[in-house]
Amino acid sequence: MKRKIVPVTIFALVLILATVCHAENIVKLSPHVTLCQNAVNGVFIEKDGQTLVIYGDPGGNLKKADKVLFTHSRRDVVWSGRKLVENGAESVVPVREADNFSKANDFWTSFIKTRFNDSRQQTTKVPIRPLRVDRKVSGGDTIDWQDLEVKVLDTPGYTRGAVSYFVNVDDITYGFVGDVIYGDGKLFDLYSLQDAVDDAKIGGYHGYAGRLGELISSLRKVSNQNPDILVPAHGPVIKNPKAAIGLLIQRLQATYKNYLSINAGHWYFKDNYEVLAARVLEPDDKVDWMPYAETIRKKPPSWIVPIHNSRLVLSGDGAGFLLDCGSRSIIEEIIKLRKSGRLSRLEGLLITHYHNDHTNEINELVRQFKCPVYCSRESKDILENPGAYRLPCLTSQGVPDLIALPDGHKMRWKEFNLTFYYFPGQTLYHDALLVEKDDAERIFFIGDSFTPSGIDDYCLQNRNLLHSGMGFFYCLDFLRKMPPDYLLINQHVLEPFRYNQEQIKYITEVLEKRKQILAHLFPWDGPNYGIDERWARIYPYGQKAKPGQRLEIAVKIFNHSNSSHVFTVRPNVPEGFQLKPKKASLTIKPRKEAETHFEITVPNTGSEKVHVITSDIKFDKWDLRHWCEAIIEVYP
Ligand SMILES: [Zn+2]
Repeated sequence: MKRKIVPVTIFALVLILATVCHAENIVKLSPHVTLCQNAVNGVFIEKDGQTLVIYGDPGGNLKKADKVLFTHSRRDVVWSGRKLVENGAESVVPVREADNFSKANDFWTSFIKTRFNDSRQQTTKVPIRPLRVDRKVSGGDTIDWQDLEVKVLDTPGYTRGAVSYFVNVDDITYGFVGDVIYGDGKLFDLYSLQDAVDDAKIGGYHGYAGRLGELISSLRKVSNQNPDILVPAHGPVIKNPKAAIGLLIQRLQATYKNYLSINAGHWYFKDNYEVLAARVLEPDDKVDWMPYAETIRKKPPSWIVPIHNSRLVLSGDGAGFLLDCGSRSIIEEIIKLRKSGRLSRLEGLLITHYHNDHTNEINELVRQFKCPVYCSRESKDILENPGAYRLPCLTSQGVPDLIALPDGHKMRWKEFNLTFYYFPGQTLYHDALLVEKDDAERIFFIGDSFTPSGIDDYCLQNRNLLHSGMGFFYCLDFLRKMPPDYLLINQHVLEPFRYNQEQIKYITEVLEKRKQILAHLFPWDGPNYGIDERWARIYPYGQKAKPGQRLEIAVKIFNHSNSSHVFTVRPNVPEGFQLKPKKASLTIKPRKEAETHFEITVPNTGSEKVHVITSDIKFDKWDLRHWCEAIIEVYP
């Protein structure tokens, strides 16, 4: 008898667990207000048999609704309201983000080109299919529904044109605030805030969390509405809004102060950095700027010729070794040097990193000068196949026939000892070259990684990982162990420089502190999820195919947590495409990247040329829908 009972008990237990794990959480917030907590939040206000929805219905249970109010156009939120709108609900969207909804196709059609040489650095988590827009709203508007009046407030910051909605129901003032806050004083991520800061004359590429000023004033506006409850798009309901907002503002200010104090841009942009600081910090608060590098020389030794952001190492016999070639004017200068007799020929080229201003004209240079091109093993793929990535300032000009050298490879060239290094400073894919001239200077060419004022991490899309032994921690440790007489050369800085040991220690400590601040700021179980948009990515990002063709994609995931996780990956393919398998799971160790492969078959019919695939990612407490994407261009 006993033997028969056991399976039944297990079966029942499995059933209960399945229900608990997969069903959404339905919470009655007040007599007329229901919250559906699933991958994202959905709020239903019900009166006289009618329903007003905020965000959407992530559980997919509602048959219909009167209106769906969208706070912003993030794809990972908008999906939950799509079906209701397609079934007839009126869609209400922020006017400044309306095009992201209604013209989604236009975005992706132009993005196949604009993704190259892109220095705007906006997140691409926008819808991949258009959604009908019925009403566009902005701050000051009101939406009348039944006997309720919904107030609209402009709350830009997390996205450029977001709004929030405030309404009093059941004697409770509710605020629906999108992603301006998460839980009790956290923020979903920082990379979404990358943007130009016009009043400090800082462009999008240099604008680390550039919308922090806007976000903080939006948070203050939200607080001034005296809401009783905030329901953000993601995460828990906030029952003490003023305290949560106060804490978030403090954390954002601490993050920014920490960032500015050791940033490379302070050297380039000088007092404009005071403008940046003033936008975010309290009036009486000041940034503790690190003093510039202890040693700064006026110019490099005579055997190094700066040509825009390239550097030419000249041997006594007239041969040259070049670092980077991003523009025609550099090639013209090299031709001039040859004509003048100062340079006889080029015998090698090292690419410090993949950014277009360092790579755009390498193929033309090689055509004219026929020299070998070197890089590290870590950089080879992105240099050959830039289109397989979504990163800042990608060149469209992949470089073939690269000679990829192992880390620390030594080469004797003329009167120089050259040592090639992988050097993940300004980006994860970045190299450096140590050049030691016999009985003379020792110069360490570090690409764009450091300036006399600090580290170059102002573009959050560059993947500056904050794990010990990686990213700038790796680079700083490297500098710490260098023999004492080296000088650093940055491709954009004329003056060679060197930090002293205290400064190297100081920068490292500020970064350690940053890790702690970010661990409190983000809701993830590792701070790097909030500064690395590419922790989950589809590879290749862009590819071309013919109708009927079979393609392979890999979903690559970097586990930024301190523990192993099981990641479930479920790609979403456009109608008519076949996908095999439908989903996959992978267990990834802490601080490691792993990948899982899928086969996609393009349909034989259909005229559309640009298709976007997305992938859902589930791990830990996260259920992230339409999270990362890839583009397929179909040509007949
Ligand atoms: Zn660069």
